[in-house]
Amino acid sequence: MKTALVTGGSKGIGRAICVKLAEMGFFVLINYNKSLEEAEKTLLFVREKGSDGELLPFDVSDQAQVEQSISSWMGRNEGKYIHTLVNNAGIRMDALVMWMKNEEWNNVISTNLNGFFFITRFLIKEMILGKSGRIINVVSLSGLKGLPGQANYSAAKAGVIGATKALAQEVAKKNVTVNAVAPGFIRSDMTKDLDETQLKTLIPMNRFGTPEEVAEAVGFLASDKASYITGAVINVNGGLYT
Ligand code: NAP
Repeated sequence: MKTALVTGGSKGIGRAICVKLAEMGFFVLINYNKSLEEAEKTLLFVREKGSDGELLPFDVSDQAQVEQSISSWMGRNEGKYIHTLVNNAGIRMDALVMWMKNEEWNNVISTNLNGFFFITRFLIKEMILGKSGRIINVVSLSGLKGLPGQANYSAAKAGVIGATKALAQEVAKKNVTVNAVAPGFIRSDMTKDLDETQLKTLIPMNRFGTPEEVAEAVGFLASDKASYITGAVINVNGGLYT
């Protein structure tokens, strides 16, 4: 049974990814930061798929917490290693650049970009030694196209896209693939304040996507079927921007 770690697995897209990976037979480490009860629900759904998992709380933007939590899991599970890492945890704090506070810039960069770096750097060594691994980064349409009011979020996601392409080339010979999935508008807590009726008119498919539709793309990249795909960004956006 391969082990996967999904950051931000307590809700939304992360939860759907945990369930998809469980369906594929992975043991799923469900990371969360604040939402313990929601994370417990995810674990229940994972078990309903006939697989198993464990909660792994830490704040992705805090290097010490990341390394302490993962090391402690490794200590309790000798011989196992995290084969698949899904960097999904993310936040948005929208503001026009002229009004954006340092805090809004820094928090979004810390969670979305630094979080990716701290965890990936910590886990990549074992994947290289094991000559097998998958890293899948959940980015965004905002990081490809840039969206007004989201300079912080667009910068963070564009940063992860650049890092995905660079790291893919660093580790390709070791049979470790690194890819990104870029959702458009997806129904989740992150988008619950948006007016779907108005925004869907911009989307060729005329609707928001579901977390499960994003999870399918992540599941494919985590599978053996995606063995020759690395450094790629897969759009899941209903045709909004490709
Ligand atoms: P969501 O429902 O708000 O869920 C966000 C998840 O990230 C939660 O599980 C949350 O955990 C976790 N998280 C936030 N900060 C964290 C931290 N510091 N450490 C650990 N976990 C943290 O959002 P979502 O829509 O599922 O978003 C998932 C990913 O998709 C994000 O990277 C987001 O940028 C990306 N995305 C979403 C959309 C969309 O339309 N929804 C579009 C493009 C990209 P806790 O609640 O436990 O803190």
